[in-house]
Amino acid sequence: VAAINDWDRETLADDERAVVEVVEQFALDVLRPVGTHLDKLADPAEVSAPASPLFDVFARYESLGVDPASLTEAELAPERRAHLQALVAEVLGWGDAGLAIGLEVSAFPRLLATLSGDPDLIGRFGAPGRIGCWPITEPDHGSDILFYRGHLEDMVGRPNCLARRDGDQYVVQGQKAAWVSNGTIADAAALFCAVQEEDGTTGLGALLVDLDDPAVTRGKPLDKLGQRALDQGEVFFDGLRVDAHQLVVPPAAAALAGDLALAMANAAMGSTFVGVAQAALDHAVVYTRERVQGGGPLVRHQGVRSRLFEMHRRIEAARALSRAVILRNTLGVPDLPGSIASKVTATQTAFEVANDAVQLFGGNGLSREYPVEKLLRDARASLIEDGSNDVLGLIAAERLLAAVAPDAPAADARTT
Ligand SMILES: Cc1cc2nc3c(=O)[nH]c(=O)nc-3n(C[C@H](O)[C@H](O)[C@H](O)COP(=O)(O)OP(=O)(O)OC[C@H]3O[C@@H](n4cnc5c(N)ncnc54)[C@H](O)[C@@H]3O)c2cc1C
Repeated sequence: VAAINDWDRETLADDERAVVEVVEQFALDVLRPVGTHLDKLADPAEVSAPASPLFDVFARYESLGVDPASLTEAELAPERRAHLQALVAEVLGWGDAGLAIGLEVSAFPRLLATLSGDPDLIGRFGAPGRIGCWPITEPDHGSDILFYRGHLEDMVGRPNCLARRDGDQYVVQGQKAAWVSNGTIADAAALFCAVQEEDGTTGLGALLVDLDDPAVTRGKPLDKLGQRALDQGEVFFDGLRVDAHQLVVPPAAAALAGDLALAMANAAMGSTFVGVAQAALDHAVVYTRERVQGGGPLVRHQGVRSRLFEMHRRIEAARALSRAVILRNTLGVPDLPGSIASKVTATQTAFEVANDAVQLFGGNGLSREYPVEKLLRDARASLIEDGSNDVLGLIAAERLLAAVAPDAPAADARTT
């Protein structure tokens, strides 16, 4: 069983192949068994408890030292880095969707610190052994916060979380929603929230904040349908004080930074869920060869074979798009509509392919003793994660229209 096929393997230089194979082994030895174990726990508090194997997953992944995003241009040319980045995300998703997302989102504070260029922040938020998160969704602001472009007039209702300037510090008050991935276990956050300056002007901004502070408390780990190995929960702030230079995205830069963050996250989701779809197809191929009914294996039926090909065809199309988008984002300005197209295509593909796999498993497809019902649940969650797919489509349409027909009337996010 392999996460990537021989054609892809051949496109890699020896050292790149070694990286992919290390991640592949990690997916088989760690992500799959731990993901399956955590998925079956009835109480999500056990997933996030100090003794949970979840923490070992973070530690072991970090010890592999294989995150392609952290490689400099001198170490690997951008084209090669983009290719490797897409492959690594595919392999992580192939291992376990929820754990893959936990590992990927954990890098957000480090990434933002690097982009800030601030040595203090790079030292603090790039330090090894810290789990990161990206709180943006609020109890009263879900999809609308993704439309919102740095000015608060468009936000219906008050923000649930506000960072208010006080001298040379910001004071953070309020909460983020129960959907924050790694929310109950993270040490650090790339916190996107309303920011109020001393003159009263308010807009969306982003701060890098340490969460191991008495002014920060957490909610209960969320109990949900899919990606159950992914810890999620509220983060509450009660007067958390952070130094002014921790505001890495001021409101004036929020629209650009928000687009950049969403593009990068959606592009990573695209590759990750190509991996999830591939896992469903791999299971279906093995099962239809092994399952004997009516005197022969399922795969002897031509209808079964054409379904397997159809699954493969859709995965290849999603794979080509997601790799092209990661390459484009690495070489130029991150392409938000393209990244959204990648995320929507790959997650929809993963959902449909996992559903086909359940069908091919017959009754066993519904049983928790077999792997494909979990893949279907994991893929279902991805249609809402990082922006629900229908709303992401509206955001992409807005940007596309702005590029080709700037005079077109703006859609109203409150009434669409
Ligand atoms: C697995 C998972 C991981 C996540 N991780 C994070 C994370 O790390 N950090 C974080 O901050 N958040 C995270 N989220 C939250 C996620 O981004 C939100 O759930 C998503 O943006 C949708 O917001 P909502 O759930 O409040 O839905 P709502 O905004 O309440 O929308 C519900 C539905 O209404 C419809 N709708 C809403 N607005 C419109 C509109 N303008 N036009 C047409 N239809 C509309 C859509 O069908 C939408 O799906 C995660 C979610 C999931 C499922």
